[in-house]
Amino acid sequence: MDKLDYQEVQKHINILNVAYHLCLEIVEQKGYESKAICPFCGYNKNSKIPTLSLNSQTNKYCCSRCGAGGFSIGLYARVRGVNTKKAYAELIARECYSQDRAAVEISPINLLADIELRDAVYRNLLGMLKLEGQHRNYLRKIGLLNSSIEDNLYRTIPKNYIKRRIISHNLSKKYDLAGIPGFFQEEDFNWCFNRYNGFFVPVFDQNGYIQGLSIHLDKPFNNSEDIWFSSNNKINGTATKNYIMRSNISLNTKNVILTDSFILGHLIKDVLNLPVISFQNISNSYMILKEIQNTDIKNITFIIRIPNCNNNLDYIINRIFRDLLPLGYSLDTKYIKKYNDIFKLDFFDETFNVNNTLKRTA
Ligand SMILES: [Zn+2]
Repeated sequence: MDKLDYQEVQKHINILNVAYHLCLEIVEQKGYESKAICPFCGYNKNSKIPTLSLNSQTNKYCCSRCGAGGFSIGLYARVRGVNTKKAYAELIARECYSQDRAAVEISPINLLADIELRDAVYRNLLGMLKLEGQHRNYLRKIGLLNSSIEDNLYRTIPKNYIKRRIISHNLSKKYDLAGIPGFFQEEDFNWCFNRYNGFFVPVFDQNGYIQGLSIHLDKPFNNSEDIWFSSNNKINGTATKNYIMRSNISLNTKNVILTDSFILGHLIKDVLNLPVISFQNISNSYMILKEIQNTDIKNITFIIRIPNCNNNLDYIINRIFRDLLPLGYSLDTKYIKKYNDIFKLDFFDETFNVNNTLKRTA
């Protein structure tokens, strides 16, 4: 491809799709203009105002705080740390290219349904599914008790296309699925959801509502073994958000564990009975900081999984440490290779070595 073709193509890489693949937190959306937390400079701790503008008309971005800016393809390349050629190839593979703008407009991104409706639809969906033996054994093997496996509502995603169509059809008779991430309409206008080799991991809020569904894949895809159940680039589909799960946290909780895996979060909640905040694919510290403020939390331990750690975790930890250390928080990191390694760790019983931790993450 010559340079002019390339310049033409990069104008059509949909910036909102790119933001989605990079897990950027979009905070506001007004017409063509969306505001997100900048993946390069974060945000001002006091004002917490999103400074990254994404323009879906021009597919350009710019940050009013650090001055970063350019086309969507460059945004992807810089966040992922790859060259633009690789960024281009990855984005094409992820269907972010749309020369024909009309095609984008007939499949608008739906507004997210409220939590009660999402909870009802997802519970109904999970009620129609089973947890197959291989996945049950996997969960037992990492240390979850049968009672936790039941309570956490893990379910295998059906491989059979007709089954997925029937389930979606039944759900669509009872609920409006426009606004429920994961569901979309096919060309015949019937509802469906995608096949994944793996199982659903419900992400609960503090009131026990299911906020969204995470998918634990049997085999990692693009270096990630956990992805969101989402349908933002499909007909009548809906984008998910990066939900955070808080478990065992009360007003006087002083110590908390942070993990980028919901399954690990369940394990810490159910087996160790410790306070834990779980998330996945988050590319900035903003949401986590929001969870921590308004609590009495003082000591934070990050669990870092090797080698299955998410690409952005180093960045997030660095960012959180930079923001929280001056405020007097104690921060530490613990490394694990397998989920059950958490049973061998001593959390919060030693004095944290802040200087060591800082050196490791800086
Ligand atoms: Zn910035």
